[in-house]
Amino acid sequence: MDFSLTEEHLMIREAARDFARTELLPGVIERDENQVFPDELVKKMGELGFMGIMVDPKYGGSGMDTISYVLIMEELSKIDASASVIVSVNNSLVCYGIEKYGTEEQKQKYLTKLATGEYVGAFCLSEPEAGSDATSQKTTAIDKGDHYVINGTKNWITNGGRSDVYLVIAQTDREKGHRGINAFIVEKGTPGFDIGPKEDKLGIRGSDTHTLQFNDVKVPKENRIGEDGFGFKFAMKTLSGGRIGIAAQALGIASGAYELALEYSKVRKAFGTEICNHQAVAFKLADMYTEIEAARHLVMKAAWEKDQGLNHDMSSAMAKLYASKVAMEQTVEAVQIHGGNGFVKEYHVERLMRDAKITQIYEGTSEIQKIVISRGVIKG
Ligand SMILES: Cc1cc2nc3c(=O)[nH]c(=O)nc-3n(C[C@H](O)[C@H](O)[C@H](O)COP(=O)(O)OP(=O)(O)OC[C@H]3O[C@@H](n4cnc5c(N)ncnc54)[C@H](O)[C@@H]3O)c2cc1C
Repeated sequence: MDFSLTEEHLMIREAARDFARTELLPGVIERDENQVFPDELVKKMGELGFMGIMVDPKYGGSGMDTISYVLIMEELSKIDASASVIVSVNNSLVCYGIEKYGTEEQKQKYLTKLATGEYVGAFCLSEPEAGSDATSQKTTAIDKGDHYVINGTKNWITNGGRSDVYLVIAQTDREKGHRGINAFIVEKGTPGFDIGPKEDKLGIRGSDTHTLQFNDVKVPKENRIGEDGFGFKFAMKTLSGGRIGIAAQALGIASGAYELALEYSKVRKAFGTEICNHQAVAFKLADMYTEIEAARHLVMKAAWEKDQGLNHDMSSAMAKLYASKVAMEQTVEAVQIHGGNGFVKEYHVERLMRDAKITQIYEGTSEIQKIVISRGVIKG
């Protein structure tokens, strides 16, 4: 067993850290406050290869492994979890979904642009009446011979107002249940496809979340992903990898808050000494570091399993469940260590605390991760 990172991994982590500090940090408070999507920064992340991290270079990607993806996600999330969710959705849901299950034509037409950051992608599974229970799709995609007609509503869609390519899950044959669901590539601007208002959120406020409407949207048959009825499996398989990205996001939020708290505890004085010298504060730092390391091991194990081509359904669910819990708990501790300063925007930890909460909700709530894990445990 080797826990060390390769020279290449260390270089990738350094590049992501440097980008996060020099490019993401300067405007992060304003973007959060005003809910500004970082268009220019997304372009720059595309130039650095962060929008197609694991995509084969022949489709314009960086050809890196999942460990590299985790390292980049952690570094970006330490500073700006809104930017990192844009990266996560584009990489592990949209690019991965098309590269793994799409046709060569779909890869040439869409993946080559998504992997370079020329296009941004969205993944549209959730509906007003189908969140955790994703099999209850109300959106329909009726087969009309050479095309499908999509009708329905998707909500909570990340990159919803900013994407060029939308992967849309819809029910074709209700009698077949989840085996009658398909996934489609829908282009921005297709007639009948409308983008609703932007959500005003608690956290990740720089990301762009919208409800989408589909009114008789015609999608050519060649835009279906996989065989007829493959859509639900497509969504579940893709989300299994996506959860590694969100787990890495949670890890980054937690470690970013920890680093700020550690630094602060070494300069802030109370009762004649730096607060890190008070055992109550020092023990908080010890707990934070231990919990974050434990989360890191779960996240890295899930990434390693994916890179080995192993089934990672359980490991990614465990990584997300645990890392998101650590993110929530440890960002609260980071605010506490900052005292009153923790409660104001300037010190960043209050934003990290707000951002942490979403990691327990999207790409399957913590309760849904426990369903995945318990099924695996019982099945053996
Ligand atoms: C900011 C944001 C971005 C998002 N981005 C996307 C996106 O890009 N694409 C997309 O498709 N979706 C996206 N989502 C949707 C997200 O995945 C869902 O919100 C999530 O899956 C939960 O669904 P729900 O909101 O309908 O909650 P519900 O399913 O209504 O759940 C409500 C509560 O009940 C619990 N619960 C439900 N069923 C069970 C059960 N069987 N056992 C135990 N507890 C249960 C849940 O855990 C939760 O606590 C996003 C959501 C947010 C808030």
